[in-house]
Amino acid sequence: MEPGPTQVDPRVIQAMCRPVVYHQSREFIETVDVVCEQLQRIYQTAGEIVVLPATGRGGIEAALGSVREPDQILVIPTNGSFGRMMANIGRAVGLNVVELPFGPGEPILRADVEEALGRYDKPILGIVHNETSTGMVNDISGYGAAVHRRGGLFVVDTVSSLGGVPVQTDLQEIDLCVSASQKSIGALAGLSFVSVSPRATEQFDQRSSLHRGMYLDLRRWWEMCLPTSRGGKLTSGYRRLPWTMPTHLVFALQVAAEVIFEEGLHARWSRHERAGVALRNALVELGLKPVPAAGWESATVTAMYGGDDLDVNDVRAALSERHGIGVAGGLDDLNGKIFRIGHMAETARFGPQVHVVSALAYELEQRGIKTGTYPIEALITSWGEE
Ligand code: PLP
Repeated sequence: MEPGPTQVDPRVIQAMCRPVVYHQSREFIETVDVVCEQLQRIYQTAGEIVVLPATGRGGIEAALGSVREPDQILVIPTNGSFGRMMANIGRAVGLNVVELPFGPGEPILRADVEEALGRYDKPILGIVHNETSTGMVNDISGYGAAVHRRGGLFVVDTVSSLGGVPVQTDLQEIDLCVSASQKSIGALAGLSFVSVSPRATEQFDQRSSLHRGMYLDLRRWWEMCLPTSRGGKLTSGYRRLPWTMPTHLVFALQVAAEVIFEEGLHARWSRHERAGVALRNALVELGLKPVPAAGWESATVTAMYGGDDLDVNDVRAALSERHGIGVAGGLDDLNGKIFRIGHMAETARFGPQVHVVSALAYELEQRGIKTGTYPIEALITSWGEE
């Protein structure tokens, strides 16, 4: 029940039980094309998608590093560990980072962001959509248009939201939208993907300096892999992937996307929403307090304070040892203070939630903490008919 890597449909794992294939074969590149088309539907974009053999933060580094100009400004409102991580990645690739810090679970103030954007020419704006460290979803609407008015680019981390929470890449004018395989998409860890707007693609060609590395330069996807009909250059004369792709993770991702379409994107978003409401209601009944401000809770991860009398990490150890249930703890300053429970892909269901709520109720009672009487009823009522 950790917030990723999450449990997946068994068909996703079965998809890997097949012989080795050559990653540069025409057949495999066709599979990559299919996966990119699937991801376009999930991302709600007509833009190109790059699939990278990297985890989520590799995708963020690739996105920022592939468009940055020397001394360019990255404005980044942060309200959790992953926002701060994006700011650090920005520093690492040579951006001048203007961080707007907010407290854990506090909403980002739009006026502050717009005021900061107004101070710079061609800034990059970076936002984490779903702040996994605090179980909070940030509102990303409207920022794309605001940063485009300043001639800049909008970069969004949807690592823990894509597939579980609506992401409308084109409508929200996101230029580089980064996600990863192991969370709400319901595939296996090891792949990151970046959707790239035409604006960002232009910047690959216009940037005045070399990329600081080579491996994570997204421009190589256009140079080597994309057909000329889609703006590719095919420098080798034929389509080649820029790296040895972990072929079997791509096969697993293809099946994970099929699983998403089998359920339907809208049905899947509402299942995740219900999972979030249900788990939160049950945990509030147990006496725990949500980390995010009311109304900002995430549909894919729930973060709750344990309270002053509870050793959260001791409870987590007991959940694992006695009940076989893994839940995550707090990151950075929140270590030892909060629980983080994922409801992504196959864990966003009533069954796993009954186990975690019952086990938590048991462990709290063992420690003499008075809990509400009906946590499971809260869960059942919230899930409704299911
Ligand atoms: N961004 C967010 C919101 C995340 O939740 C995570 C991982 O939990 C990352 C980035 C980093 O992704 P990865 O661990 O795949 O590099």
